[in-house]
Amino acid sequence: MSQTSTASYASTQLLIAGQWVDAADGRRIDVRNPATGEVIGQVAHAGRVDLDRALDAAQKGFDAWRRIPAHERAATIRRAAGLLRERADRIAALLTQEQGKPLAEARTETLAAADILEWFADEGRRVYGRIVPSRNLAAQQQVLKEPVGPVAAFTPWNFPINQIVRKLGAALATGCSVLVKAPEETPASPAELLRALVDAGVPPGTVGLVYGDPAEISGYLIPHPVIRKITFTGSTPVGKQLAALAGQHMKRATMELGGHAPVIVAEDADVELAVKAVGSAKFRNAGQVCISPTRFLVHESIKADFTRALVRHAEGLKVGNGLESGTTLGPLANPRRLTAMKKVVEDAIVAGARLATGGKQIGEAGNFFAPTVLDDVPLTASVFNDEPFGPVAAVRGFNRIEDAIAEANRLPYGLAAYAFTRSLRNLHLLSHGIEVGMLWVNQPAAPTPELPFGGVKDSGYGSEGGPEALEAYLNTKTVSVVSLF
Ligand code: NAD
Repeated sequence: MSQTSTASYASTQLLIAGQWVDAADGRRIDVRNPATGEVIGQVAHAGRVDLDRALDAAQKGFDAWRRIPAHERAATIRRAAGLLRERADRIAALLTQEQGKPLAEARTETLAAADILEWFADEGRRVYGRIVPSRNLAAQQQVLKEPVGPVAAFTPWNFPINQIVRKLGAALATGCSVLVKAPEETPASPAELLRALVDAGVPPGTVGLVYGDPAEISGYLIPHPVIRKITFTGSTPVGKQLAALAGQHMKRATMELGGHAPVIVAEDADVELAVKAVGSAKFRNAGQVCISPTRFLVHESIKADFTRALVRHAEGLKVGNGLESGTTLGPLANPRRLTAMKKVVEDAIVAGARLATGGKQIGEAGNFFAPTVLDDVPLTASVFNDEPFGPVAAVRGFNRIEDAIAEANRLPYGLAAYAFTRSLRNLHLLSHGIEVGMLWVNQPAAPTPELPFGGVKDSGYGSEGGPEALEAYLNTKTVSVVSLF
């Protein structure tokens, strides 16, 4: 008998100038549990007055935070990481109730946030400038690295904490303040991330949090003179709109957008390893992951074995409320995804694909969709062209590795790719041929904070990991000094 943990769910306020407050006009938005469809709380809906106050605070927060030495900033950020760890169980329960993912995944996300904060805290202590030898011996030429200024961050509902912490970690470590527009559908867990920073002692305004109408807020914040950089995670169409607005106002931008990750399983692959690695990655967070494996390109000689094993894996998952122990696949985060999954499967079958397992909604309440495997999927099917963002694996065969690489590169996306092979030749062709920001070979993705994380082509630009992530929040200033003595 499975046991459902009970957890309370509080309504979420805005964070402005270090204070948790309701919207000035009292507006709120309902928050629903995707496992039941029930309203579980509300989140404050910011209006123009709130945004102006938050912007003013972000400027003051920046002025205070940038003047704190890097090693003290690091100590504060590390304190916040400690608080997240202490509070992980409670935060995970909030995350599962508003987003749907199994409790174990929610806990992992919370603990990963602590790890990410710590890594960035330490990396921020190593932001060095340099001295460049001068052609004039009386001059000393310095290259200084300075925080870019107040940042506006826009983040989605699939990893409500993780999508923010990579931005916050890098921005805070370099001395920037950050005003976050977090997801309205999953507001409480991100609020806990910011609460940890406030409780750890960041000056008022260094971090701010608003919710409301996404287009209204981005349309106001991006052009605003206080904001010096924007960072967005979400879909490619929205990313293009925001990047265009940022360009119009000469704001620096980092864009972490959609993907459609190919999985190339070569003739000489370890099939068991491949299914184990990408099977769990495919259905993690119900497939609502930008680096989720989606286009399975499998050598014809092993395709039947691979597909059978993937179906066995999918059928072994336990679908249910994420709060119930033993659940390995929760509901989709919102009804939009449920509608999208039904369409994707119907379209693939009409195009000629074979439904190997799943393909339907489960139950009446909540957004549950069965883990699905489609085989022999034609290239014309929408699932092989548009990011599915759900628990659907689409498989098709290939004969030559060169053809699989060409298919991988056919789409405008270029975020992550996976490959399974024992051959050095294949490895060489794959690592040089695939147009992506991240390639994982013979393993699932392991995007630790020290590794660059980001895409190319329509998947965006900029990185949210490694030293490159900090560089995105720094200005470079040349100072050349001729001493008069
Ligand atoms: P959507 O494209 O409308 O929204 C995606 C995210 O962008 C949401 O968090 C939303 O609040 C935000 N957003 C939308 N318009 C905005 C605007 N004008 N200004 C600022 N933020 C804005 O649709 P959706 O139904 O929420 O998600 C659907 C698709 O988005 C998915 O199929 C997937 O492709 C993509 N997505 C990607 C990621 C990712 O990790 N890259 C995360 C969530 C969603």
